[in-house]
Amino acid sequence: MDAEIIAVGSELLTPFGTDTNSLYLTGKLNALGIEVRYRIIAGDDHDRLTDAFQNALRRSALIILTGGLGPTEDDITRNVVAEVLGRPLRENPEIRSRIEKRFESLNRSMPPNNLRQSLLPEGAQWLENAHGTAPGIWIERDGVIVILLPGPPRELEPMFESHCMPLLERVGGKERIRTRVYKIIGLPESEVDRVIAPLYTPYQNPATTILSKPGTIEVHLRARAASEEEAEALLGELGDKIELALGEHVFSAHGESLEEVVGMYLMMKQLTLAVAESCTGGLVSERLTRVPGSSNFFLGGAVCYSNELKIRLAGVPAALIEREGAVSKTVAHALSEGIRTRAASSIGVGLTGIAGPGGGSAEKPVGLVFIALTDARGTSVREFRFPGERQRVRYWASQMALEMIRRRVRD
Ligand code: AMP
Ligand code: MG
Repeated sequence: MDAEIIAVGSELLTPFGTDTNSLYLTGKLNALGIEVRYRIIAGDDHDRLTDAFQNALRRSALIILTGGLGPTEDDITRNVVAEVLGRPLRENPEIRSRIEKRFESLNRSMPPNNLRQSLLPEGAQWLENAHGTAPGIWIERDGVIVILLPGPPRELEPMFESHCMPLLERVGGKERIRTRVYKIIGLPESEVDRVIAPLYTPYQNPATTILSKPGTIEVHLRARAASEEEAEALLGELGDKIELALGEHVFSAHGESLEEVVGMYLMMKQLTLAVAESCTGGLVSERLTRVPGSSNFFLGGAVCYSNELKIRLAGVPAALIEREGAVSKTVAHALSEGIRTRAASSIGVGLTGIAGPGGGSAEKPVGLVFIALTDARGTSVREFRFPGERQRVRYWASQMALEMIRRRVRD
């Protein structure tokens, strides 16, 4: 069965709106063995949405529309679908009383507009919305399934999972699709491909894709089989070979981020960490504290941007900054040692560099970053030249700092 998704919302056609619902739905449908053949974005416009929906009816057996189920004038999905299918809208008393109750429980009076959300096309099923007022709608006609879902992801996702997945499981393809993502650090995309191409080219199934992300290369495997277990076995067969070939460069095989992996190692080894950051402005600390449970390993970070605060917060000797400059190997060294001593952590990390666009020189160009790591065994400092603009340099610096920690605590 082939699916088509129509995301409805004029904001999705501006530079500021991203249609994430379609990505979520595609993942879920693929897992059921359903391929998505078209993804359309339509503004809140009666004629264009009508056109998009009519096209979808001509070519797709499963059509999911998201958004435009709200109570306002510009929420037209329900009306357009009812009109095109020739199924007039009728008020459903059960939905109406649920919406009224929801407002009562919130101690608010219901605006009359919300009654639109109790309208249901003739012959349709409604899907309960546990997190909002707009119910979803499920319509079948001549072997075609049409599903209407609310736009907000926190309403759509639980609704799709609890009400649509079980129904689609029965009509979905016999095939199951499973995916695996390996995240790789420290090798360029071309090198990753050179190493693994001989391994994956003999396989049609799983299909392999290599994607370049900031600071990471991802290898995506996608296997199709009669059952989830068989698909997993196919992933394992090729995946194990790839993982072995790329060795220590693979930091994640189950979707974890680099900071999660670092946090996991630190917790496992019961080590603590403190960071003194200059050019990254707290980015390393921010990334580490995204990890749930980071208080178990992360003691804190100092953003010592000025020379004055490098001296006061991390104990960098003033004479050292004077002599070597704030962006130097020795200052990075002093930052990591200083913060480790002051925080009494197992590991200290220091970063200093030139993120640009200004501030570079022939001797110390934009993109030059020194990263130091200190633990009981001593201090090591690495020098990097990151290409690109300011945010890219900063992100890469945070990425390599995390990678240095990973390498140190892994073995
Ligand atoms: P609507 O149901 O059209 O009133 O949409 C309500 C809100 O849901 C919008 O303001 C967006 O924040 C969000 N939303 C709508 N469509 C999408 C989509 N395709 N992807 C992600 N968020 C969406
Ligand atoms: Mg909308």
